[in-house]
Order: sequence, then structure tokens, then C-alpha cells
Amino acid sequence: MEGVLVTGTARAGLEGECVRCLGPITDEIEVDLQELYVYDDQQHDPDEDDEVSTLQDDLLDLEPLLRDAVVLALPFQPLCGPDCPGLCPECGARLADDPDHAHEEPVDPRWAVLKEMSEPGAQIHQDDTRQ
Ligand SMILES: [Zn+2]
Ligand SMILES: [Zn+2]
Repeated sequence: MEGVLVTGTARAGLEGECVRCLGPITDEIEVDLQELYVYDDQQHDPDEDDEVSTLQDDLLDLEPLLRDAVVLALPFQPLCGPDCPGLCPECGARLADDPDHAHEEPVDPRWAVLKEMSEPGAQIHQDDTRQ
């Protein structure tokens, strides 16, 4: 026996922000833990001290182990949902809350013709000079 082998499962609550819409996220993750805590009076290479977990007065500190496991398991780019539409590029509103909102904005004159053509009932003007 050179120490205590800790194995277990930890569940942690998560709180964060969606990377697309900045909306709040709450979630839960479960991580598996395994770590050998060696007795502190053991002779070990001081160079490895950073990587070796030690028992302190028969107590072991789970926090670093837990923190590392949870951080590794965190999603890289958390989303509030798989189809989060993000924010409106015009006003920053959350599109998930207000998916149909629109802006009355002046149409670039170069696109105005296209807009007329795409409106219901619009007819494409034929070239009048051709007869
Ligand atoms: Zn979102
Ligand atoms: Zn908007």
C-alpha cells in the first residue's frame, strides 16, 4: 500500500452563457474520477510533486481532482439548445424569444428592384421597346 486509490462519480451543476445568444444555461454533468493519493511520508521525486496527489494527515483533498475532471468535461462552446438561432445582427435581440421580428430599414436602391419582383403579385416588367 503506497496510498489510497480514489474512484467515483461526481455530479456537478453547471451555469453559463450560450455562446450564440448569451442566454443563461443551466445543466448538469457527470464525471468519473480516479486518482491515487500517496502517503505524504513516502519518498518520491520532488520533481513530480505537481503531478502527485498526497494524503495530508490521513485526509485527501478532492477539490483539484474534481475541478480538473469537470473542466475537461465542460462543453467547449455551450449552447442553450442545439438550434439556438443566436442574436439579431441588427438589434441584438434574442431570436429564440422573438423569431419573427423584423426591421423596417431603408432598402438599398440597388436591391429595390429585386424586392419588387419578390413581392406577391408583382410582375416582372417586360422591356416596353420590344414589340
Ligand atoms: Zn442560445
Ligand atoms: Zn432585430
